[in-house]
Amino acid sequence: MPGDAATSDLGGGFVLTHLAQGESAVQATPLAAAGVTAVMSTQGLNARNTDETLAWIRNAGLAANAVTAAAQVHGADIVRARPGASSGTGDGLLTDDAGLVLSVKIADCAPVWIADRASKRFALLHAGWRGVSSHIATNAVTALRAAGSEPANLVAAVGPHLQSCCFEVGPEVAERFSRWPRSVKPADELRAPRVRDDSFAIDLGIAIAAQLREAGMPEDAVFVASACTRCSPVGFHSYRRNGAGGPLMIAVGVRRL
Ligand SMILES: [Zn+2]
Repeated sequence: MPGDAATSDLGGGFVLTHLAQGESAVQATPLAAAGVTAVMSTQGLNARNTDETLAWIRNAGLAANAVTAAAQVHGADIVRARPGASSGTGDGLLTDDAGLVLSVKIADCAPVWIADRASKRFALLHAGWRGVSSHIATNAVTALRAAGSEPANLVAAVGPHLQSCCFEVGPEVAERFSRWPRSVKPADELRAPRVRDDSFAIDLGIAIAAQLREAGMPEDAVFVASACTRCSPVGFHSYRRNGAGGPLMIAVGVRRL
């Protein structure tokens, strides 16, 4: 993609890349090695603006007219991407079509790219606490297997998201993560001011990685960004910081021909 010369390491397999027009993108380098361009925007773009979003996609060197998205409902369904702007309803998209640019919109939820190194198949997820506690990452591997992929051939990258430094939840949400014990942390690990006194901190990346490993993926094939959308100096849009109706980011994935 353009601008590869000027990148900075964000940790977890992710780099910050500068695009044309002063824009920037976060790129998942383990996916690039697997043949998928996997990028997300930063606070420089509000993905609620369609024209600016398509311009950002073109600046990233991708085909804006090949973008497809599904209506996101914080669920755990994986749908087949279709040519055209709408791929139905679901929080995960899967394709074998190198002509499609898959996209999800995010602000604190994690974008998760999963690529098959042995075929053109890949998936892109919008994974927040509701979707993760409903096993969206598990479902993605199940869908990839049903399409013919072997988990041993998959590589995954979990993009910047609301990290446990800022992800305060009540006990009712923490309980939904008890199946992945390391993903629930004591509230004194929070760096953000606490809103309630019975809360916990959730580590979404740990829960997603646990699901992917339980589904058969090799441990060393799962990469998790360390940047937090709320407090990273890189500058991301954050639902927790900006509130409902605030700006969104876009994450995209496309198989390189
Ligand atoms: Zn944080």
